Amino acid sequence: MAELPEIHKISTQMNKTLQNKVIAALELKQEKCANVTEAEFLKRIAKVKIVEVKHKGKWITLHLANNENILLSLGMGGDVLYFENQDNASEKYQIKLTFIDNSGFTVKFWWFGKFLLASDIELKDEPNTKDVAIDPFDGRFTYRYFKALFTGKKGQIKAFLMDQKNIGGIGNMYMHDILFKSSLHPQKKISGMSENDFHNLYSSIDDILRSSQNKGAYAYESDFFGSGGGFVNSDFLIGYKVNQPCPKCGESIIQIKTGSTSSFICTKCQKI
Ligand SMILES: [Zn+2]
Repeated sequence: MAELPEIHKISTQMNKTLQNKVIAALELKQEKCANVTEAEFLKRIAKVKIVEVKHKGKWITLHLANNENILLSLGMGGDVLYFENQDNASEKYQIKLTFIDNSGFTVKFWWFGKFLLASDIELKDEPNTKDVAIDPFDGRFTYRYFKALFTGKKGQIKAFLMDQKNIGGIGNMYMHDILFKSSLHPQKKISGMSENDFHNLYSSIDDILRSSQNKGAYAYESDFFGSGGGFVNSDFLIGYKVNQPCPKCGESIIQIKTGSTSSFICTKCQKI
């Protein structure tokens, strides 16, 4: 599942590749992914130039020259694939956007994703994206900002970090290593965390996400040009490594249930 390193990579590639391209056609095979009909969608974006592609947490946003925005979420995963020429376009897709130079991209959701349209004005109230918080790759994500997020917060640390309204872009995949590196149990109560815990957590979030980014993101997620990254499963510290020894203490890694998600932990290094 694409998380911050993967989304950051793909949106950077899209930004470089799609800037100034003019939209010619849109095919929406799965209209329920969108918030408007295919006809209205196309009417509002046809013959318009793409100004910039960015991301907000795990949402990829294409800003258009007429102050419309296309908002793309891969949900549980999917492929966004560029084609130089329509003849080379992937045949498996729910969405296909084509430009006047005959290039374009297809979107294939593995499960269910979203492809929305919102004007700049509508964006302020867009229910899916308006509350998505800034992510750890954002320059504003300082320790001071991070620490202030926890003011008055109770509950468990993993649930807090998973909530995109608190921090954008972190999902279950990198979470195991982030918490392990911080020596925090996923069910540790925020109210019981020390200043040192917050410092460790802040730097671990950066370390773990950057280590994937530096390797070109996750190997089994396709980028905009159909290539995977260099971060392979053996690069996880403890994530998905049941029964393998903890790299710090040698204890066997176990998998536990934490709410609706699974967690991989070392019971010696991560105490509630
Ligand atoms: Zn350990």
